[in-house]
Amino acid sequence: METISLYIHIPLCVKKCAYCDFASFAGRMAQRERYVQAVCREIRAQAAFFGPRRVGTVFLGGGTPTLLTGAQVQEIMDTVRACFVLEEDAEITMEGNPGTLTGENLRAYRRAGVNRLSLGVQSLDDDLLAAIGRIHTSAEAAQAVRMAREAGFENLNLDLMLGLPGQTAIQWKETLESAIALAPDHLSCYSLILEEGTPLEARVRAGTCAPLPGEDEMEEMDALTARLTQEAEYAQYEVSNYARPSRACRHNIVYWECLPYLGVGLGAHSDLDGRRFYNPADWEAYLHMAESDDAARLAEGTNTREDRMFERMMMGLRQVRGVDAARFARDFGMEIERVWPKTLAEMTHSGLMAAHEERIFLTPRGMQVMNGVLVRLMEEMDSKPQNGA
Ligand code: SF4
Repeated sequence: METISLYIHIPLCVKKCAYCDFASFAGRMAQRERYVQAVCREIRAQAAFFGPRRVGTVFLGGGTPTLLTGAQVQEIMDTVRACFVLEEDAEITMEGNPGTLTGENLRAYRRAGVNRLSLGVQSLDDDLLAAIGRIHTSAEAAQAVRMAREAGFENLNLDLMLGLPGQTAIQWKETLESAIALAPDHLSCYSLILEEGTPLEARVRAGTCAPLPGEDEMEEMDALTARLTQEAEYAQYEVSNYARPSRACRHNIVYWECLPYLGVGLGAHSDLDGRRFYNPADWEAYLHMAESDDAARLAEGTNTREDRMFERMMMGLRQVRGVDAARFARDFGMEIERVWPKTLAEMTHSGLMAAHEERIFLTPRGMQVMNGVLVRLMEEMDSKPQNGA
Protein backbone atom coordinates (compact mmCIF):
# COMPACT_ATOMS: atom_id res chain seq x y z
CA MET A 1 0.00 0.00 0.00
CA GLU A 2 1.34 3.42 -0.97
CA THR A 3 2.40 5.85 1.76
CA ILE A 4 1.17 9.40 1.33
CA SER A 5 1.21 12.60 3.36
CA LEU A 6 -1.86 14.43 4.53
CA TYR A 7 -2.22 18.22 4.81
CA ILE A 8 -5.23 19.59 6.70
CA HIS A 9 -5.91 23.31 6.36
CA ILE A 10 -7.47 25.24 9.25
CA PRO A 11 -8.18 28.75 7.91
CA LEU A 12 -9.15 30.42 11.19
CA CYS A 13 -7.21 33.37 12.62
CA VAL A 14 -7.80 35.78 15.48
CA LYS A 15 -6.94 38.66 13.16
CA LYS A 16 -5.12 38.99 9.87
CA CYS A 17 -1.43 39.85 10.11
CA ALA A 18 -0.42 42.82 7.97
CA TYR A 19 1.74 40.77 5.58
CA CYS A 20 -0.49 37.72 5.20
CA ASP A 21 -2.14 36.59 2.00
CA PHE A 22 -2.70 32.98 3.08
CA ALA A 23 -6.15 31.45 2.84
CA SER A 24 -7.24 32.42 6.33
CA PHE A 25 -10.06 34.43 7.86
CA ALA A 26 -10.60 36.38 11.04
CA GLY A 27 -14.02 36.48 12.67
CA ARG A 28 -15.22 32.98 11.69
CA MET A 29 -14.97 31.33 15.10
CA ALA A 30 -18.74 30.93 15.27
CA GLN A 31 -18.45 28.55 12.30
CA ARG A 32 -15.49 26.63 13.70
CA GLU A 33 -17.42 23.46 14.52
CA ARG A 34 -19.15 23.46 11.13
CA TYR A 35 -15.72 23.72 9.48
CA VAL A 36 -14.30 20.82 11.52
CA GLN A 37 -17.26 18.65 10.52
CA ALA A 38 -16.75 19.60 6.86
CA VAL A 39 -13.06 18.65 7.04
CA CYS A 40 -13.88 15.27 8.64
CA ARG A 41 -16.48 14.67 5.96
CA GLU A 42 -13.98 15.54 3.24
CA ILE A 43 -11.39 13.16 4.73
CA ARG A 44 -13.96 10.35 4.57
CA ALA A 45 -14.94 11.24 0.99
CA GLN A 46 -11.33 11.40 -0.22
CA ALA A 47 -10.42 8.13 1.47
CA ALA A 48 -13.41 6.45 -0.19
CA PHE A 49 -12.43 7.90 -3.58
CA PHE A 50 -8.71 7.09 -3.48
CA GLY A 51 -8.87 3.83 -1.53
CA PRO A 52 -6.69 2.67 1.33
CA ARG A 53 -3.35 4.41 1.88
CA ARG A 54 -0.75 4.50 4.57
CA VAL A 55 -0.13 7.99 5.95
CA GLY A 56 3.42 8.81 7.00
CA THR A 57 3.02 12.48 7.92
CA VAL A 58 0.09 14.74 8.82
CA PHE A 59 0.34 18.52 8.90
CA LEU A 60 -2.40 20.67 10.41
CA GLY A 61 -1.57 24.05 8.91
CA GLY A 62 -3.25 27.39 8.74
CA GLY A 63 -4.45 29.84 9.50
CA THR A 64 -4.18 29.06 13.16
CA PRO A 65 -4.91 25.40 13.94
CA THR A 66 -4.36 26.10 17.64
CA LEU A 67 -7.71 27.92 17.59
CA LEU A 68 -9.26 24.44 17.57
CA THR A 69 -10.21 22.79 20.84
CA GLY A 70 -8.46 19.61 21.91
CA ALA A 71 -11.69 17.71 21.23
CA GLN A 72 -11.85 19.04 17.66
CA VAL A 73 -8.27 18.02 16.92
CA GLN A 74 -9.02 14.64 18.48
CA GLU A 75 -12.03 14.23 16.17
CA ILE A 76 -9.98 15.13 13.10
CA MET A 77 -7.23 12.70 14.07
CA ASP A 78 -9.76 9.95 14.89
CA THR A 79 -11.21 10.43 11.41
CA VAL A 80 -7.74 10.19 9.86
CA ARG A 81 -7.09 6.95 11.78
CA ALA A 82 -10.44 5.50 10.77
CA CYS A 83 -9.95 6.30 7.06
CA PHE A 84 -6.24 5.66 6.54
CA VAL A 85 -3.51 3.46 7.99
CA LEU A 86 -1.68 6.05 10.07
CA GLU A 87 1.88 4.79 10.48
CA GLU A 88 2.98 4.17 14.03
CA ASP A 89 5.89 6.60 13.77
CA ALA A 90 3.95 9.17 11.73
CA GLU A 91 5.11 12.77 12.10
CA ILE A 92 2.02 14.76 13.08
CA THR A 93 2.63 18.51 13.03
CA MET A 94 0.36 21.30 14.11
CA GLU A 95 1.02 24.99 13.47
CA GLY A 96 0.34 27.28 16.37
CA ASN A 97 0.20 30.95 17.16
CA PRO A 98 1.83 31.74 20.53
CA GLY A 99 -1.07 34.08 21.30
CA THR A 100 -3.60 31.23 21.28
CA LEU A 101 -2.02 28.52 23.42
CA THR A 102 -3.04 27.17 26.79
CA GLY A 103 -1.41 24.32 28.70
CA GLU A 104 -4.71 22.48 28.63
CA ASN A 105 -5.09 22.71 24.84
CA LEU A 106 -1.48 21.71 24.27
CA ARG A 107 -1.88 18.61 26.45
CA ALA A 108 -5.08 17.71 24.56
CA TYR A 109 -3.32 18.08 21.18
CA ARG A 110 -0.56 15.75 22.43
CA ARG A 111 -3.19 13.22 23.57
CA ALA A 112 -4.76 13.42 20.09
CA GLY A 113 -1.41 12.27 18.70
CA VAL A 114 0.14 15.55 17.58
CA ASN A 115 3.89 15.09 18.11
CA ARG A 116 5.40 18.16 16.46
CA LEU A 117 4.49 21.79 17.09
CA SER A 118 5.44 24.59 14.73
CA LEU A 119 5.14 27.95 16.43
CA GLY A 120 4.73 31.13 14.38
CA VAL A 121 7.03 33.31 16.47
CA GLN A 122 8.20 35.51 13.54
CA SER A 123 10.21 37.91 15.72
CA LEU A 124 11.26 38.31 19.32
CA ASP A 125 11.21 42.10 19.04
CA ASP A 126 7.96 43.55 20.39
CA ASP A 127 8.03 46.66 18.20
CA LEU A 128 8.45 44.59 15.05
CA LEU A 129 5.76 42.15 16.15
CA ALA A 130 3.34 45.05 16.62
CA ALA A 131 4.36 46.59 13.29
CA ILE A 132 3.44 43.44 11.36
CA GLY A 133 0.19 42.95 13.29
CA ARG A 134 1.01 39.81 15.27
CA ILE A 135 -1.29 39.16 18.23
CA HIS A 136 1.46 38.07 20.64
CA THR A 137 4.52 39.52 22.35
CA SER A 138 8.02 38.05 22.51
CA ALA A 139 7.43 37.07 26.16
CA GLU A 140 4.30 35.15 25.12
CA ALA A 141 6.29 33.37 22.43
CA ALA A 142 8.92 32.29 24.97
CA GLN A 143 6.15 31.22 27.35
CA ALA A 144 4.54 29.20 24.53
CA VAL A 145 7.78 27.27 24.06
CA ARG A 146 7.93 26.46 27.78
CA MET A 147 4.28 25.38 27.83
CA ALA A 148 4.78 23.19 24.76
CA ARG A 149 7.74 21.43 26.37
CA GLU A 150 5.75 20.95 29.60
CA ALA A 151 2.87 19.47 27.60
CA GLY A 152 5.26 16.88 26.18
CA PHE A 153 6.19 18.28 22.75
CA GLU A 154 9.67 16.93 22.09
CA ASN A 155 9.78 18.16 18.51
CA LEU A 156 9.37 21.90 18.24
CA ASN A 157 9.86 24.32 15.36
CA LEU A 158 9.99 28.10 15.51
CA ASP A 159 9.11 30.13 12.41
CA LEU A 160 11.00 33.42 12.18
CA MET A 161 10.91 36.22 9.61
CA LEU A 162 13.70 38.44 8.39
CA GLY A 163 13.60 41.46 6.15
CA LEU A 164 10.76 43.15 8.07
CA PRO A 165 10.23 46.90 7.57
CA GLY A 166 12.82 48.80 9.58
CA GLN A 167 14.52 45.60 10.78
CA THR A 168 18.27 45.90 11.26
CA ALA A 169 20.84 43.11 11.19
CA ILE A 170 21.39 43.73 14.91
CA GLN A 171 17.70 43.18 15.63
CA TRP A 172 17.71 40.00 13.57
CA LYS A 173 20.78 38.78 15.46
CA GLU A 174 19.02 39.39 18.78
CA THR A 175 15.89 37.58 17.64
CA LEU A 176 17.84 34.61 16.30
CA GLU A 177 20.02 34.37 19.41
CA SER A 178 16.96 34.55 21.67
CA ALA A 179 15.19 31.93 19.55
CA ILE A 180 18.19 29.60 19.72
CA ALA A 181 18.33 30.12 23.50
CA LEU A 182 14.82 28.63 23.64
CA ALA A 183 16.38 25.41 22.26
CA PRO A 184 13.90 24.49 19.52
CA ASP A 185 14.58 21.34 17.50
CA HIS A 186 14.04 23.13 14.22
CA LEU A 187 14.16 26.69 12.90
CA SER A 188 12.51 28.11 9.78
CA CYS A 189 13.90 31.50 8.81
CA TYR A 190 11.81 33.02 6.03
CA SER A 191 12.48 36.28 4.25
CA LEU A 192 9.43 38.52 4.14
CA ILE A 193 7.70 38.43 0.79
CA LEU A 194 5.64 41.56 0.24
CA GLU A 195 2.44 40.13 -1.18
CA GLU A 196 0.35 42.38 -3.36
CA GLY A 197 -2.88 43.54 -1.79
CA THR A 198 -1.75 43.11 1.81
CA PRO A 199 -1.88 46.09 4.21
CA LEU A 200 1.89 45.90 4.68
CA GLU A 201 2.53 46.11 0.96
CA ALA A 202 0.28 49.19 0.77
CA ARG A 203 2.13 50.82 3.69
CA VAL A 204 5.55 50.13 2.19
CA ARG A 205 4.39 51.43 -1.18
CA ALA A 206 2.91 54.58 0.38
CA GLY A 207 5.98 55.11 2.57
CA THR A 208 3.85 55.12 5.74
CA CYS A 209 5.98 52.53 7.54
CA ALA A 210 9.69 52.00 7.97
CA PRO A 211 11.41 51.04 4.71
CA LEU A 212 12.43 47.46 3.97
CA PRO A 213 16.04 46.62 4.76
CA GLY A 214 18.43 47.19 1.87
CA GLU A 215 20.45 44.58 0.03
CA ASP A 216 23.54 44.94 2.24
CA GLU A 217 21.48 44.63 5.41
CA MET A 218 19.76 41.51 4.01
CA GLU A 219 23.10 39.97 3.11
CA GLU A 220 24.30 40.60 6.63
CA MET A 221 21.16 38.96 8.03
CA ASP A 222 21.66 35.92 5.78
CA ALA A 223 25.27 35.65 6.91
CA LEU A 224 24.17 35.87 10.54
CA THR A 225 21.60 33.13 9.97
CA ALA A 226 24.23 30.85 8.46
CA ARG A 227 26.75 31.52 11.24
CA LEU A 228 24.47 31.42 14.27
CA THR A 229 22.58 28.30 13.20
CA GLN A 230 25.83 26.52 12.44
CA GLU A 231 27.37 27.49 15.79
CA ALA A 232 24.27 26.17 17.55
CA GLU A 233 24.48 22.91 15.55
CA TYR A 234 21.40 23.30 13.44
CA ALA A 235 22.11 21.88 9.99
CA GLN A 236 20.66 23.73 7.03
CA TYR A 237 18.79 21.22 4.86
CA GLU A 238 16.69 23.60 2.76
CA VAL A 239 16.90 27.25 1.73
CA SER A 240 15.07 28.47 4.85
CA ASN A 241 15.15 25.45 7.17
CA TYR A 242 17.57 24.30 9.84
CA ALA A 243 17.31 21.26 12.07
CA ARG A 244 18.97 19.41 14.89
CA PRO A 245 19.92 15.81 13.95
CA SER A 246 16.90 13.74 12.82
CA ARG A 247 14.55 16.72 13.28
CA ALA A 248 14.19 17.80 9.64
CA CYS A 249 10.49 18.20 8.83
CA ARG A 250 9.46 14.96 7.11
CA HIS A 251 6.23 16.50 5.83
CA ASN A 252 7.92 19.37 4.03
CA ILE A 253 10.49 17.00 2.53
CA VAL A 254 7.55 15.25 0.84
CA TYR A 255 6.76 18.52 -0.98
CA TRP A 256 10.37 19.19 -1.94
CA GLU A 257 10.78 15.64 -3.25
CA CYS A 258 7.41 15.89 -5.10
CA LEU A 259 6.09 12.78 -3.34
CA PRO A 260 2.32 12.17 -3.13
CA TYR A 261 0.14 14.11 -0.74
CA LEU A 262 -3.52 14.74 -0.16
CA GLY A 263 -4.65 18.17 1.02
CA VAL A 264 -8.00 18.61 2.71
CA GLY A 265 -9.68 21.78 3.84
CA LEU A 266 -10.25 25.17 2.29
CA GLY A 267 -7.79 25.99 -0.51
CA ALA A 268 -5.74 22.82 0.04
CA HIS A 269 -3.73 21.39 -2.86
CA SER A 270 -3.20 17.72 -3.61
CA ASP A 271 -0.84 15.73 -5.79
CA LEU A 272 -2.01 12.16 -5.80
CA ASP A 273 -2.11 9.34 -8.35
CA GLY A 274 -0.83 11.71 -11.02
CA ARG A 275 -3.72 14.07 -10.37
CA ARG A 276 -3.19 17.64 -9.29
CA PHE A 277 -6.21 19.24 -7.72
CA TYR A 278 -7.18 22.15 -5.51
CA ASN A 279 -10.00 22.85 -3.13
CA PRO A 280 -11.90 26.14 -3.40
CA ALA A 281 -10.29 28.91 -1.36
CA ASP A 282 -13.65 30.59 -0.83
CA TRP A 283 -15.28 29.83 2.53
CA GLU A 284 -18.82 29.07 1.30
CA ALA A 285 -17.64 27.28 -1.84
CA TYR A 286 -15.42 24.98 0.22
CA LEU A 287 -18.14 24.19 2.75
CA HIS A 288 -20.57 23.49 -0.07
CA MET A 289 -18.09 21.12 -1.72
CA ALA A 290 -17.29 19.25 1.50
CA GLU A 291 -20.86 19.08 2.77
CA SER A 292 -22.17 17.73 -0.51
CA ASP A 293 -19.31 15.21 -0.97
CA ASP A 294 -18.72 16.89 -4.30
CA ALA A 295 -15.86 15.07 -6.01
CA ALA A 296 -16.06 17.22 -9.15
CA ARG A 297 -12.81 18.96 -8.26
CA LEU A 298 -10.97 15.70 -8.85
CA ALA A 299 -10.61 16.57 -12.49
CA GLU A 300 -7.21 15.97 -14.03
CA GLY A 301 -4.89 18.90 -13.49
CA THR A 302 -3.55 20.87 -16.40
CA ASN A 303 0.13 20.53 -15.71
CA THR A 304 2.14 18.89 -18.45
CA ARG A 305 5.04 16.47 -18.25
CA GLU A 306 7.39 19.44 -18.76
CA ASP A 307 5.72 21.29 -15.91
CA ARG A 308 6.28 18.27 -13.67
CA MET A 309 9.93 17.96 -14.68
CA PHE A 310 10.55 21.62 -13.97
CA GLU A 311 8.69 21.43 -10.69
CA ARG A 312 10.79 18.43 -9.63
CA MET A 313 13.93 20.54 -10.20
CA MET A 314 12.52 23.70 -8.66
CA MET A 315 11.40 21.96 -5.48
CA GLY A 316 14.37 19.58 -5.22
CA LEU A 317 17.00 22.29 -5.65
CA ARG A 318 15.62 24.04 -2.58
CA GLN A 319 17.11 21.21 -0.56
CA VAL A 320 20.79 21.22 0.29
CA ARG A 321 20.98 17.61 -0.94
CA GLY A 322 19.25 18.59 -4.18
CA VAL A 323 17.26 16.46 -6.62
CA ASP A 324 17.23 12.67 -6.78
CA ALA A 325 18.55 12.26 -10.35
CA ALA A 326 17.95 8.49 -10.50
CA ARG A 327 14.31 8.88 -9.50
CA PHE A 328 13.90 11.70 -12.00
CA ALA A 329 15.18 9.45 -14.80
CA ARG A 330 12.90 6.60 -13.68
CA ASP A 331 9.81 8.78 -13.46
CA PHE A 332 10.29 10.76 -16.66
CA GLY A 333 12.24 8.26 -18.79
CA MET A 334 14.91 10.88 -19.38
CA GLU A 335 18.02 11.93 -17.45
CA ILE A 336 18.21 15.45 -16.04
CA GLU A 337 21.37 16.01 -18.10
CA ARG A 338 19.40 15.30 -21.27
CA VAL A 339 16.58 17.68 -20.37
CA TRP A 340 18.87 20.60 -19.49
CA PRO A 341 22.27 19.86 -21.10
CA LYS A 342 23.32 23.50 -21.53
CA THR A 343 22.26 24.84 -18.15
CA LEU A 344 23.70 21.91 -16.22
CA ALA A 345 27.04 22.21 -18.04
CA GLU A 346 27.15 25.99 -17.48
CA MET A 347 26.14 25.83 -13.83
CA THR A 348 28.55 23.01 -13.06
CA HIS A 349 31.36 24.81 -14.85
CA SER A 350 30.73 28.00 -12.90
CA GLY A 351 30.62 26.14 -9.58
CA LEU A 352 26.94 26.80 -8.90
CA MET A 353 25.80 23.19 -9.27
CA ALA A 354 27.35 19.83 -8.47
CA ALA A 355 26.45 16.14 -8.42
CA HIS A 356 27.09 13.46 -5.83
CA GLU A 357 25.65 9.98 -5.27
CA GLU A 358 22.91 10.35 -7.87
CA ARG A 359 21.79 13.73 -6.58
CA ILE A 360 22.19 17.07 -8.35
CA PHE A 361 22.35 20.05 -6.04
CA LEU A 362 23.21 23.72 -5.81
CA THR A 363 26.46 24.64 -4.11
CA PRO A 364 26.26 27.28 -1.34
CA ARG A 365 27.05 29.89 -3.99
CA GLY A 366 24.39 28.42 -6.26
CA MET A 367 21.84 28.62 -3.44
CA GLN A 368 22.40 32.37 -3.26
CA VAL A 369 21.40 32.78 -6.91
CA MET A 370 18.73 30.09 -7.01
CA ASN A 371 16.17 32.25 -8.79
CA GLY A 372 18.61 32.96 -11.61
CA VAL A 373 19.35 29.23 -11.95
CA LEU A 374 15.64 28.46 -12.17
CA VAL A 375 15.14 31.12 -14.84
CA ARG A 376 17.91 29.49 -16.89
CA LEU A 377 16.33 26.05 -16.48
CA MET A 378 12.96 27.44 -17.54
CA GLU A 379 14.42 29.23 -20.56
CA GLU A 380 16.22 26.13 -21.77
CA MET A 381 13.12 24.01 -21.34
CA ASP A 382 10.99 26.56 -23.21
CA SER A 383 13.53 26.80 -26.01
CA LYS A 384 13.01 23.30 -27.36
CA PRO A 385 10.29 20.71 -27.78
CA GLN A 386 10.62 17.84 -25.33
CA ASN A 387 10.75 14.28 -26.40
CA GLY A 388 11.47 10.92 -24.82
CA ALA A 389 9.19 8.48 -23.02
S1 SF4 B 1 -1.62 33.99 12.00
FE1 SF4 B 1 -0.63 33.17 10.16
S2 SF4 B 1 -2.30 32.64 8.75
FE2 SF4 B 1 -3.16 33.95 10.35
S3 SF4 B 1 -3.11 36.01 9.49
FE3 SF4 B 1 -1.21 35.74 10.69
S4 SF4 B 1 0.30 34.95 9.20
FE4 SF4 B 1 -1.74 34.73 8.28
